[in-house]
Amino acid sequence: MKKKISLIIPCYNEEEMIDILYDEINKVLVKLPKYDFIFLFVDDGSKDQTLSLIKAKAKKDHRVKYISFSRNFGKESSMLAGLEAAQKLDVDAALLMDADMQDPPSLMLEFFKYYEEGYKYIFTRNKTRKGQALLKRFFANAFYVIYAWLTGDKNSVHSARDFALLDRDVINAFLTYKDKHRYSKGISSQIGFKKKCIEYDFQERQAGTTKWSFRKLFKYAMTGIKQFSHVYILVPNLISIFLSIALILQIIFGHIYKYDYRYIYIAITAGVLLLNITLKYVMKLGYDIRDQLLNRPHYLTAETNIE
Ligand code: UDP
Ligand code: MG
Repeated sequence: MKKKISLIIPCYNEEEMIDILYDEINKVLVKLPKYDFIFLFVDDGSKDQTLSLIKAKAKKDHRVKYISFSRNFGKESSMLAGLEAAQKLDVDAALLMDADMQDPPSLMLEFFKYYEEGYKYIFTRNKTRKGQALLKRFFANAFYVIYAWLTGDKNSVHSARDFALLDRDVINAFLTYKDKHRYSKGISSQIGFKKKCIEYDFQERQAGTTKWSFRKLFKYAMTGIKQFSHVYILVPNLISIFLSIALILQIIFGHIYKYDYRYIYIAITAGVLLLNITLKYVMKLGYDIRDQLLNRPHYLTAETNIE
């Protein structure tokens, strides 16, 4: 019996990409006759023609499945919904792929070569970022270095992408992680299994524009660091160490040079400010715990053709 593979494609306002991507994937699928493929489009609350284009494909091609969210929930939610649907559809493996051709479908041949060799989790990273905007390149590089340092994650992969093939066992492993604030790359370095990394050069988006604003990316980067490091302890610790040193120095120098003790008041004011930051920070931790306890849904489905 042929193995069943689902291609999970998160889409948010990708009307320019649906046709191009569908055609490009089909060109590769004819070279992989050993498998039964399912296109699993996750429409993350698009406001353009994305959903109607996907539905038109589904009408003509029974392999096309879709889930459409009630609003935009973010790419992590799209990937999660895709993996949950893949589990429900009882697939042998799933391949996560962006809609904009930055994850080239042609690489599927390499993915399946490794899959046949017995690798259970085949992931990717960009070995160069040539062609990417300079500022984005700088922040991305800085993020991976800071992330690796703060989390101490020995398996963290610099410039990793979400483009990955997950065997059934790996899908199940991913789905046992119930993080309310998800950071898949962090989960992926914890799960183990027989892994293989495919490296390729950064590819430019083929049409449309990025759906990640700088603010969204920054928040996502913070989520990754928060979820997989002990930064919650580190920051208040650093702040209190800094405060204590500042006050001790004030007192020592005040005594030696007999200077005005007003500086101590300034130091205390600065201290109160820093304490305020720490408190805010602790409250944020409280909110994170609340979010986890409330267990609100990651996404809400408005329409789907999956029974
Ligand atoms: N995406 C999504 N929900 C979002 C933002 C993005 O499903 O809120 C999808 C998007 O349609 C694309 C993939 O996630 O298929 C990666 O997004 P994008 O290419 O805009 O990000 P970039 O490559 O610029 O980081
Ligand atoms: Mg992209």
